[in-house]
Amino acid sequence: MLSPIRCFSCGALLGDKYEKFNALVAKGMEPSKALDKLGVKRYCCRRMILSSFETLNKMLPYAEAAALLNDKEEEI
Ligand SMILES: [Zn+2]
Repeated sequence: MLSPIRCFSCGALLGDKYEKFNALVAKGMEPSKALDKLGVKRYCCRRMILSSFETLNKMLPYAEAAALLNDKEEEI
């Protein structure tokens, strides 16, 4: 598992928050509220956690479904 250690943009430490974020989301908390609770307020840092490898794998099916919908709309 690849977890972000520091934010690429501002350099804030995120390595200690990533596991806690995943645990909160696994318990059913919304990702935005989990980030607020962990004190990750800057959008550059939020991006680092939300675009991590593990999170992206969970969102890929939705992106593929959206791409299929776009293809169908272009055919019409
Ligand atoms: Zn940042």
